[in-house]
Amino acid sequence: AGQRQVAPADASMLAAIVASGETGPRPLPASGAPAQPHDYAQLERLLRGELRPVDVLRELEASGLRGLGGAGFPAWRKWATVAGQPGPRDGVVNVDEGEVGTFKDWHTLAHAPRPALEGMLIAAAVVGLERLWIYVRDEYPDVRALLHEELQALQARLQAWRQRYPVAFGVPHPDTPGQRPLLPAAGPEILLRRGAGAYVCGEESALIESLEGRRGLPRLRPPITAVRGVFGRPTLAHNVETLWWVPTVLRDGGAAWAAAGVRGRVGWRRYSVSGRVRRPGCYLLPAGSTAREVIDAAGGMAEGHRLYAFLPGGASGGILPAALADLPLDFDTLADHGAFVGSMALIVLSEADRARDAALAMMRFFAHESCGQCTPCRAGTTQALALLQAPVWDQTRWAALSQVMRDASICGLGQAAPNPVDSVLRYFAHEVTP
Ligand code: SF4
Repeated sequence: AGQRQVAPADASMLAAIVASGETGPRPLPASGAPAQPHDYAQLERLLRGELRPVDVLRELEASGLRGLGGAGFPAWRKWATVAGQPGPRDGVVNVDEGEVGTFKDWHTLAHAPRPALEGMLIAAAVVGLERLWIYVRDEYPDVRALLHEELQALQARLQAWRQRYPVAFGVPHPDTPGQRPLLPAAGPEILLRRGAGAYVCGEESALIESLEGRRGLPRLRPPITAVRGVFGRPTLAHNVETLWWVPTVLRDGGAAWAAAGVRGRVGWRRYSVSGRVRRPGCYLLPAGSTAREVIDAAGGMAEGHRLYAFLPGGASGGILPAALADLPLDFDTLADHGAFVGSMALIVLSEADRARDAALAMMRFFAHESCGQCTPCRAGTTQALALLQAPVWDQTRWAALSQVMRDASICGLGQAAPNPVDSVLRYFAHEVTP
C-alpha cells in the first residue's frame, strides 16, 4: 500500500464520529487516573540532554510497562535488545488492531494521538531507529486521516527541534565533540502505511511481510523481529498503547506509574468492553482489575441481563464462567483457567447467550482469517467448524484435532483457535453433551 493521502471523506467521517459523541470521553471510574502528558515535553527533555537514554530505560524498567498488544513482553527489555543489535534499525507502530472486540487503540488515537507519536520518537532516540513505520488497519480510515495530519504537523516540530537542539540531531557542534546523536540529522523517516484488512497482519512478522509489499504470511522464528525485522533490519515493534504510556511514565516516574496497579499488578490498562453491558466502550482502570470491576465501569449488566460468561481476551483468550469474574484480568493470571487477556478485550455474555454459540462464532472467524500457510490451521479450523455445528460435540475427535492445531501451527492464530472450544468443554459442558 502506498503512502496515505487524506481523502475528504475520511476527515468528514472523523468529524461525524466526534460529533456523535462516539469518541467522546468515557468515565474513568478509577480515581487518580493520570492526566494526559503535555505534548512532546518528555521528548524535548531528552533532546536537550535533561534526560539520558539510560534514564529512559531505567524508568521503563521501574514502571513494569509491558507490550499491550497482547504478548505482554517487558518494554524496556525489548528496547534494550534492539538497541544491542547492529544498525541501521527500524521501528514499527502496530495499528492493525484486529482482535475481536478490541478497539482501545482506535479510541486512544482518535482522542489523543500525540503521546503515542511522542513515545515512538522517544523510542527512536533511545534505541537508535532510523526509519519508523506506522501500519494502520484498513478499517480505521478516520485514524489514518488523523495521523496523516498529525505527522505533517510533526515535521514542522522536528524542523524546529533540529534548529533548537542541533547536537541531538547529529549536527556537528564544537562544544560536544563525539556525543552520540539521538536522531538522524534530518530526523527519522516516518512512513504511514495502510493495511489491507487481514486479522493475521496484527501478528508482528505478518505485518512486516505486508509492509515489505508481500502477502501477510507469518514468518517462522527464529530470528525474532528484534534481530531481523523490516527489510532485514533489527526492528522495534510496538502496540499503540505501549508507546502511548511512555511520556506519562517519564513525567511521573516509573515507580509512580507502577503503583497504580492493584492486586500485585502494575500500571494502567485500557479495556475494550462489549456485549451485554449498559455502556460498551473503552475504559481505563488499574492493571489487576477484575472482570466484575470492568463491567461495573461500563455501567453494569444491560437491563434485564445477568452475567453468564465472559471472554477476557477477545476471540483468542477463551471463555470463562461468571463464577470467575473476580479474578484479576491481567497477564499471567488466567493461565490456570485456560484463558488469557491478550489485548484486554472483554466481551460479556448473559444468560440469554450460550457459550457454544460464541465458540462457534469465534471458530468461523478463525477459519475465515486463517492465512492458509500451514495445514494444521487451514484444515484444522475448517474441520473444527463441522465438528462444532453438531448438537453433541465429538470430544475424542476434538482432542486429537486441537492437539495438532496447538502443536504444529506456525503462529498464534492456529495455536489459540482451540481456546474457546476448550473453555466450553471445561466450564459449559452441559451445553454440548446429551
Ligand atoms: Fe497462517 Fe494459521 Fe498457519 Fe498462522 S497458524 S501461519 S494464520 S495458516
